[in-house]
Amino acid sequence: MLKSEYLQRVYTQVITRDPDQREFHQAVLEVLESLDRIIDKHPEYENHGIIETFVEPERMIAFRVPWVDDQGRTHVNRGYRVQFNSAIGPYKGGLRFHPTVNLSILKFLGFEQILKNSLTGLPMGGAKGGSDFDPKGKSDNEVMRFCQSFMTELNRHIGQFVDVPAGDIGVGGREIGYLFGQYRRVRGSYDAGVLTGKGLSFGGSLARTEATGYGLCYLTAEMLKCMKNDSFEGKTVVISGSGNVAIFATEKATQLGGKVVALSDSNGYIHDPNGINLDVVKDIKLNLRGRIKEYADRVPGSTYHEGFRGIWTIPCDIALPCATQNEIDGETAKIIVKNGAMAVAEGANMPCRPEATQVFQDAGLLSAPAKAANAGGVATSGLEMSQNSMRYAWTFEEVDRRLKEIMVNIFHNIYDASVECDAPGDLVVGANIAGFLKVAGVMLAQGLI
Ligand code: NDP
Repeated sequence: MLKSEYLQRVYTQVITRDPDQREFHQAVLEVLESLDRIIDKHPEYENHGIIETFVEPERMIAFRVPWVDDQGRTHVNRGYRVQFNSAIGPYKGGLRFHPTVNLSILKFLGFEQILKNSLTGLPMGGAKGGSDFDPKGKSDNEVMRFCQSFMTELNRHIGQFVDVPAGDIGVGGREIGYLFGQYRRVRGSYDAGVLTGKGLSFGGSLARTEATGYGLCYLTAEMLKCMKNDSFEGKTVVISGSGNVAIFATEKATQLGGKVVALSDSNGYIHDPNGINLDVVKDIKLNLRGRIKEYADRVPGSTYHEGFRGIWTIPCDIALPCATQNEIDGETAKIIVKNGAMAVAEGANMPCRPEATQVFQDAGLLSAPAKAANAGGVATSGLEMSQNSMRYAWTFEEVDRRLKEIMVNIFHNIYDASVECDAPGDLVVGANIAGFLKVAGVMLAQGLI
């Protein structure tokens, strides 16, 4: 129950309007609980209907995506784009291709994206999109035909000053290439800034592929340094997932002196007490598009275990969940605490259920929320857009330097916000409030109501 009658009324309306959208309710409630601390100081929000406007997307687009498989059979998937908030810049947020995709998941992701993009300090609004299409097991040609059909519809809703999609689960460099090719074809115009995460030879940015995982580690390192006078050096790290975010978080955590001992996919997890051999993981996942269990066949001393949740029974100092939402529940969180972890930082979006975050905070663990910790991906997408506008490409080192600077700034911004609202060190509260104040201020300044 929220203390503010206004916030409670808004939350009740969110549930009443869309009773089945549980992921969206969860994301909204977490933010409103943080705003509950400051709402009394801001009567203008209620006077101008800011919160009820903030929780309702500006626009939701849904469309059918017919495509033909290699056997000539027609399939029909559903495509979406949720354009949530464009107060501080063009809509920006990834596309997810996964069978679980629905409006609830995309609204939660789009809502989180508004605050995340605000925290980066770059001029980007919040959006998210995708499809219930499953790229797993599909040939390159099938993925290409699907992407072309998806973009044939989506193209009319996006543009470099309108809405700039990028990748997410199931959408990597291959898919962005096909999507960009179709955009160029149907629009007859080379608008490089319409998508980010592009290949380097057609407007992509160096370090974009690495950015989310690297950024996660930069923010975690700053958190360890400032809040515990500590570092990755000599720490055991467990990372869930084995996709883009997990792979490059493994790379950076290792470079910073940590030892990553486990990775997972939706079927199970590998445990390598000697430290993950990332070359093998990259070969399996990036070159062969294989499954993480193949690692145990190739690396002596490592083991594979069925079931992805078991990864959190492995003791670690630092836990970096980088797979998907709601992967860590309260019971799993208790195991992580009991095994002696000191920090958790969310690489995936909303990987910890609210009760899990509570367990971490009660136990005094450092806990960095996704909207801050994984903002390095979209921040570097913002840098890709800048380079596209300049028709110029920065070096890897230059982009990486800017990424690091942004992540360090985000940490201090959310930490300071937590102190200012009497919740020192509660980075969930800090991130929600720091992200929101900027967007709400702009909504008021622009007279959006
Ligand atoms: P990828 O598709 O590259 O990898 C996703 C990984 O998570 C795979 O290992 C996948 O395993 C695993 N996974 C997916 N669903 C489940 C599930 N239900 N249970 C267990 N494991 C699962 O995606 P990304 O690495 O890009 O994204 C991972 C997370 O990071 C997502 O939450 C995404 O929203 C977030 N994120 C990504 C950004 C980016 O730049 N890519 C930016 C910011 C956030 P399997 O192969 O078996 O499906």
